[in-house]
Order: sequence, then C-alpha cells, then structure tokens
Amino acid sequence: MKRTLYLKFLLAYLLFGIFGFVVVATFVYSMTYERLRRDKADSMYQVATQIANTYAADLYNSETSLETVHMQLVALSKYMDKSSIWIVNPSGRLVLDSSRNLGPGQEIVIEGFDPTVTGSSYYTTGNFFGSFDRDVLSVFAPITANFKVQAYVVVHTSIADIQNSANEFLNISYLMLIVLFLLSMIILIFFTELVYVPLRKITTATEQYAAGNMSYEFSVESEDEMGYLAASLSYMAGEIARQEDDQKKFIANVSHDFRSPLTSIRGYLVAMQDGTIPEEMHSKYLGIVINETDRLTKLTNELLTLNNLNTKGMLLDRSDFDINQVIRNVAESFGGICIDKKIAIELVLTDEKMLVNADMSKIQQVLYNLVDNAIKFSHKESSVKIETTEKHSKVFVSVKDSGIGIPKEDQKLIFDRFYKSDLSRGKDKKGTGLGLAIVKEIIKAHEENINVISTTGVGTEFIFSLPKAAAMDEEE
Ligand code: ATP
Ligand code: MG
Repeated sequence: MKRTLYLKFLLAYLLFGIFGFVVVATFVYSMTYERLRRDKADSMYQVATQIANTYAADLYNSETSLETVHMQLVALSKYMDKSSIWIVNPSGRLVLDSSRNLGPGQEIVIEGFDPTVTGSSYYTTGNFFGSFDRDVLSVFAPITANFKVQAYVVVHTSIADIQNSANEFLNISYLMLIVLFLLSMIILIFFTELVYVPLRKITTATEQYAAGNMSYEFSVESEDEMGYLAASLSYMAGEIARQEDDQKKFIANVSHDFRSPLTSIRGYLVAMQDGTIPEEMHSKYLGIVINETDRLTKLTNELLTLNNLNTKGMLLDRSDFDINQVIRNVAESFGGICIDKKIAIELVLTDEKMLVNADMSKIQQVLYNLVDNAIKFSHKESSVKIETTEKHSKVFVSVKDSGIGIPKEDQKLIFDRFYKSDLSRGKDKKGTGLGLAIVKEIIKAHEENINVISTTGVGTEFIFSLPKAAAMDEEE
C-alpha cells in the first residue's frame, strides 16, 4: 500500500508534465503563429492602402509615370525587409513589381488571379496563384480612381519570418514549462517530507502493533494532523500495552491467591487420609480447612463484586439515606471482633441525622472494608474513630485508627488490586488486597473522592466524600 501511494503521486506528477507539454506544443505554436500573422498583415495593409491612395492613385490619374512610381516603390520596399510590392490590375496582369524591372512590352499575367480569394479578410497565405515557389503572406489594397477599382496593390512578404518567430516563442514556452516542472518538484518534496515519510512510519508502527509488538516506539515530529495521528497511535499502543500488563498481573495474582489456600487444604486433607494427623486431631485441622475455604469464598465474591462494578460502570441504585445510621450499624457488626482485640470504636457524628444521596448498600460495603482494615491493622487496646463532617454540599466520612500505618511509597498503591504493603503481612495473612480496590471503584462510580493520610507507626485515616441529599440542602 505504502509504495503505490508514492507511485500514484509520481504518476500524477509525470502526467502533469506530459499534459503540460502537449498543451504547450499544440496551442502555443498555433496561437502565436496566428497572432503574428495577423499583426504582420495589419501593418502591411496600412502600407498597401497608403500606396494605393498615393503613388498608385497618382498613376491611374495620370499624374505620374510608371517609372517614377516603380522607383518610389523600390525605395519603399527596402524599408520593409523581404517584401515586394506589386500592382496588379483586375484581369491579373502584373503592372509593376518592386523586386524586378519589367521591360517594355514584357507582359506577365497571373493565371487565375482572383482578388476575392481573401474572403472576408484582406490577406492570404500561399504561393499566390503559383507566382512563388514558397509560401508568402499577401495583402491586398484596391486602387480606386473615377469610382472604379483600377488595380490592386499587393504586398508580399516571406512567411518564414513569422514561422521563425512563432518557433522562438514555442521554445521560450518549453523553457518555462521545464522551469515550472522543476519548481513543482518542491510540491513532491513537501509531499514526501510531510506526508509520505510520516505515513510510512505510522504504517510500520501499525504493522508492528498488529503483530503484537506493543512496545514498538516511533516518533513523528510535526505538529500537524500527521503528528497528532502518530501521537494518538502511540498513546493507544501504550494504553493497550499497559492494559495487557495489568491483565497479566491480575491473572497472576488471582491464581496465586487461589493456589495457596488450595495447597494448604490439600496438605491437611492428605495428611488426615494417610494418618499423619491422628484422628483425634482431625476436628482442629478441619477447622483450618473450613477457614481456608471461607477465604476462597471471600476471594471469589470480591472478584465478582469488582467485575460487576467494572462492567456495570456507573449503575448505582441511589437513594437518600442517613449515613449516621449506616455507620452505627457497621460499627455494631464489628462488636465481637472489637471485644476480642479490646478495640473501642468511637463515633463522632455531626447531627442526629445526616441524609446523603448515594447507593446505600455499596457505601455500607465501603465502610465495612475501611473499618475492617482499621481494626485489622490496629494494635490491641487502641481505638478506631469514625467521624462525619459537612462542608458546603458534601458530607465527609473519616475512618481513623492508630495502628501500624502505611509507608509513604505504598500510599498510592494500596488502591490497586491485590496490593498489600509488606508492613501488613504479619498482621493479616487472610487479606486478599482487593478491599480498597473495591472501595475506590465504588467511590469513583459516585464521582466522589477518597484520600488517605498515614504515618507509619502512628496511624491511618481514610476520608471519603458523599453528596448531601437535596432534602438536607433545603432545610438549611
Ligand atoms: P481484604 O480487604 O481483601 O481482606 P486487605 O485488607 O489486605 O485485604 P485492602 O483492604 O485492599 O486489602 O488493603 C490493601 C493494603 O493496604 C493492606 O494490605 C494494607 O497493607 C494497607 N492498609 C489498608 N488499610 C490500612 C490501615 N488502616 N492501616 C494500615 N495499612 C492499611
Ligand atoms: Mg481490607
């Protein structure tokens, strides 16, 4: 494809040259020849009528002799180079010829002389009724005396001069054509540089991408549509490469997270079957196996949730509900764990009721995940604080603990799927690293924000925003 585009353009260029040549060759010569012939005939006609009205008229009015007129015409014809002046009477007899002396009694009659041969014009080209062996341009002017055409002044001039001039003009035109043709090469160069070269780079790149080489790099340094196309293309390739990368990482993480509980389940079961674990210990190890299957169930559910959030996109079941009540419910559901770890959940809620407009079950899930993390990564005998504040038309919910904290470099990664900071691994072996990814997706679907403030060894605070219900806004 890329070769033929260039060939096509080259072909168009050559066609332009050939047609230019044909047009110049056919029209320029005939047009200039016509024009020059007419100009020449015009000027000769003026001379001829002048002769007809002066010298020749005198002759027919018998005011001067034939010899005198002959001498005058000879002198005149010298000024009109390569011309000869004839006086021909209507019957075709040559009365006078400026180029030769007609002896007395010498009679030359032009066979077939016909003054109407010029038609509507006053000149003709040809050998003048066989009088010349080459083509001449002949101009007629009638001599009138006594209200009658007595004779004609005929001025002949060689046509070769006109042909030469026309040819010279044609040569100049050819020269101009060549210059133009060469100048138009600039267009070809521009086309090559601005269109063809970038286009080749882009096609090579698309071929590479199509073949799966998404890391192929190329650049087109122009700020026109070509540059924009190239930039978009390489951006697209980058995005695809990144997605492929994410996909691979995701699959690797999923399989890893599925494999470890399966391995441990299998290990315990085999040990029970072959008697490595004595029968009386079975119930203890079956408990572990049940725990592991619980973990697998949790992982599967979370993956499904994430997948649904992704495919459904923005599909939210929004309603106005009291966020304070949801917070109280979530805190309550952690009661048992809190007693075990001796952790107090402290609620600092603004107003009795705080209506927000959001998807209640999803926000519940967000709170559940955040409180779960806060408790998981807190030390025993500490407290977790859940706070609501309102500002403008937003409600901010904060979940704050004084636990292990998140290292600075991990803070932007914790919302990624499967990400778990090294610090937390000792505290929580069961975690899948999907909780915050789900939280982030939900908040994003609400077009709200979530932020984390954390210092290692001091504690962590997650704050997310929610839109206040319209009913609440009106009350104020
Ligand atoms: P899951 O929520 O699926 O059980 P998880 O809690 O490990 O697993 P996330 O909730 O996504 O996964 O959290 C990701 C990581 O962020 C955690 O593994 C932990 O390293 C860090 N993290 C999250 N919340 C806190 C917190 N309150 N204090 C300290 N580290 C935290
Ligand atoms: Mg979690």
